[in-house]
Amino acid sequence: MSQKINPKKSVACSFCGKPAVKARSLIEGPNSVFICDECVQHSADIIKRNEALSLFSSFDETLPRPSELVAELDKYVIGQDFAKQVLSVAVYNHYKRIQINGGIDENNDVELEKSNILMLGPTGTGKTLLARTLARILKVPFAVADATTITEAGYVGDDVETVLLNLLQKADYNVQAAERGIIYIDEIDKISRKSESTSITRDVSGEGVQQALLKMLEGTRAGVPPKGGRKHPEQSLIYIDTRNILFVCGGAFDGLEKIIARRMQTSTIGFTAESTERVEAKYELLKYTEPDDLIKYGFIPEITGRLPVITPLSELSEEAMLSILTEPKNALLKQYKKLLGMENIELEFELDAIKAIVNKAFKRKTGARALRGIVEEVMLPIMYQAPDMKDLKKIIVTRECVEQKASPEYITTNKSKTA
Ligand code: ADP
Repeated sequence: MSQKINPKKSVACSFCGKPAVKARSLIEGPNSVFICDECVQHSADIIKRNEALSLFSSFDETLPRPSELVAELDKYVIGQDFAKQVLSVAVYNHYKRIQINGGIDENNDVELEKSNILMLGPTGTGKTLLARTLARILKVPFAVADATTITEAGYVGDDVETVLLNLLQKADYNVQAAERGIIYIDEIDKISRKSESTSITRDVSGEGVQQALLKMLEGTRAGVPPKGGRKHPEQSLIYIDTRNILFVCGGAFDGLEKIIARRMQTSTIGFTAESTERVEAKYELLKYTEPDDLIKYGFIPEITGRLPVITPLSELSEEAMLSILTEPKNALLKQYKKLLGMENIELEFELDAIKAIVNKAFKRKTGARALRGIVEEVMLPIMYQAPDMKDLKKIIVTRECVEQKASPEYITTNKSKTA
C-alpha cells in the first residue's frame, strides 16, 4: 500500500467516490484502488462495533454452567457461598432465557420470567463485587446506580434514563450489548415507603421512585439522550429495551429480620444474645424473606414481584477479611507486592501486621470497605520512599507500622537493615 498520492491526479476514493482534491488523505492500494481518510475511519468504527458485539455475545455458545460461575466467583469473592449459588443459578437461567428467542417469545406457552435479584446484606460484604464479577465473567456491560439518587421523572436528580445511559456508555454505545447487560442498584432499601410522618413535602424517596424503578425492572423501551442530561434537548434519543437487562438490587435492610421473626413467630432470634450469635441469627432469618415481608418493609407489591430471587449476604468475620486481603486474584496486598516486584523489591507483610490491619478495619463496621483505606495509609510513605532508596531489596511491614505508623524494615543488598 503506498502513501498519500498526488492530489492533482484525477483519482477518487473507490468507496465513497470523493475526488482526491476533496479528500484530506487518499491511500492507494493495488490495482488503482483508493480509500479516503473518512472511509478508513468509518471502516475502523464498523470493525470496533463488530468486535464489541461478538465480545458481548460470546456466551451464546458457551454460557458457563452455575458451578462454573461459582468456581470463577471464588477467585475474586471470599465466602458468601449461599449467595454465590443463588446468583449463579439466577444468572444462568436469565441468559438461557435470552438465548431462547432473545428472551422475548410472546407465543410461547411457558413464559420464562426474568429473574432479577435482590441481595440483602450489610455494607462492604461484596454485593457490588459479586454483581460486577458476574458481569465480567459473562463479558456483558455493567453499570452501578444508587437508588437514593434516582428520582421520579421531572425532579432534579438521576432518572431512569440516566441509569440506562450509564450502561450504554459502558457498552460503548452498542445498544444490543447494553440490552443484555447487568445493572446493580445499590441502597434499594432506602427507597422503601416510610411512615406518613417522614414525607413532609414530596415523595422523592418512596413510592414515586419505586414506580420509576418498576418501569425499568418490568421492561420498558426508554429513550436515552446519548449526551445525558436535559442540557441538550435537541439531541436525538437512543432507544433501549430493558426487558433483557438483568437487575441486581442490594441493600442492608436493617430491621427486616424482625418482620420475618414476627411472621415466623420465632422470638429465638435472641436480640439479647451475644453479638456474633445475633448476626448469625439475622443472616439465617433473612434466608426466609418473602415478598410480604418486603411489602411490610415499605415496598410496593409490584416491585417485590419483579425481584423473585432473594439472597442474604453474611457479615464478614475478621478471618474472612484477612482472606480478602491476601487470597483473591487481585487481593490488595498482592497488588502492592507486584508493584514493588516490578522494581525488584520484595514486599513482605508480617502476619501480625495483616491482623492489625484487619482489626482496625473491623472496628469501622463498614465491612471490607475499610481495608483499602487502611492499607493505603500504611503503604503511602513506603511507596514514596522506596524508589529513592539505593540497593533496596526487601521491605518488611510490621504490626508497629500499622498501629504506630512506625517505619518498616528496609533491607538492602549489602544486608544492612534500616528501620
Ligand atoms: P457492598 O456489599 O457494600 O456492595 P462491595 O462489594 O462494594 O460492598 O465491597 C467493597 C470492597 O470490599 C470491594 O471492592 C472488595 O474489594 C471488598 N470486598 C467486600 N466483600 C468482599 C468479599 N466477600 N470478598 C472479597 N472482597 C470483598
